[in-house]
Amino acid sequence: MKKIGILTSGGDAPGMNAAVRAAVRCGIEKGMEVYGIKRGYEGLLDGEIVNMEWHSVGDILQRGGTILRTARSTRFMEDRWVEHGARMLNAFGIEGIIVVGGDGSFRGGLDLSEKGISVMGVPGTIDNDLAYTDYTIGFDTAVNTILGLITNIRDTSSSHERSTIMEVMGRNCGDLALYSGLSGGADVILVPEVECDINEICRKVLQGQATGKAHSLIVKAEGFKMDSNEMARTLEEMTGREARAVVPGYIQRGGSPTEKDRRLATVTAAKAVELLYNDSSSKAIGVSRGELIEMDLADALKVEPVFRSDLYELTNVLGKGR
Ligand code: ATP
Repeated sequence: MKKIGILTSGGDAPGMNAAVRAAVRCGIEKGMEVYGIKRGYEGLLDGEIVNMEWHSVGDILQRGGTILRTARSTRFMEDRWVEHGARMLNAFGIEGIIVVGGDGSFRGGLDLSEKGISVMGVPGTIDNDLAYTDYTIGFDTAVNTILGLITNIRDTSSSHERSTIMEVMGRNCGDLALYSGLSGGADVILVPEVECDINEICRKVLQGQATGKAHSLIVKAEGFKMDSNEMARTLEEMTGREARAVVPGYIQRGGSPTEKDRRLATVTAAKAVELLYNDSSSKAIGVSRGELIEMDLADALKVEPVFRSDLYELTNVLGKGR
């Protein structure tokens, strides 16, 4: 291929800029023209497509967010608009694009690939909810951001002998809660993948209190069924100890990407360019056991998630109090 495009879509994730930088520079290095498509699929439909140069991606490697901007596009969920997107790319002579985003963005990409565009999926989401790859771009940074917040909250909640419920992002995937909870020393982790009722949560908190714990830390995924503030109220009633819900929200999305996220973004985007250069059909790129992998885009979306119950059980053991 001679002309390729790149867009970022869905929720922004730290490391997306590193992917854009690598795609642009690797493409230029191979003699291709690389186009930046602004505001995800929305920008594609509106023809917001600009030629990128080597220097247009300078000084962005360390920045969170995405210089291409991102969007959620309801129009792109309709076949006639996907068709329109393909026609737009044809008008620019763009034969293949790189989509940096999560599962929704990949599904949009798959629809586009059915209109004759080669689509390379680069996993960019803090949620880590693409099961074909071990990690997604932005996850490591977000986990470390949450860890910092947990460290801060521990100081105040132990001083006041409080229970804290920290609600973290992740949509229907519990990985952000699981990894930050494990490494942040949570007493209880609540994720959509594992059932746990309020009585069980209270039992665990009371068990800790009985052994002399100064505070309790509950890390709860946003996808876990219970409301955090309601849980805090019930917990307070049932344990007799003050309880607070903390919801950091979009703070979890921002910040300079970690080395791990920059590297993942750089190598997956570089691979995507190589595949387009070789006229490959649509693929998803990721990592498995430390190795770079590629898989047919449609197959990648069919991979079932495997929850790390070993990490969950380990947290239960370490947090229970004795
Ligand atoms: P994140 O989970 O980090 O927010 P995401 O890529 O999953 O990232 P979504 O909002 O689900 O974010 O998807 C981004 C865009 O992809 C949507 O706004 C829509 O334009 C397109 N998209 C999502 N799902 C589909 C689908 N099933 N078919 C076609 N296009 C889709």
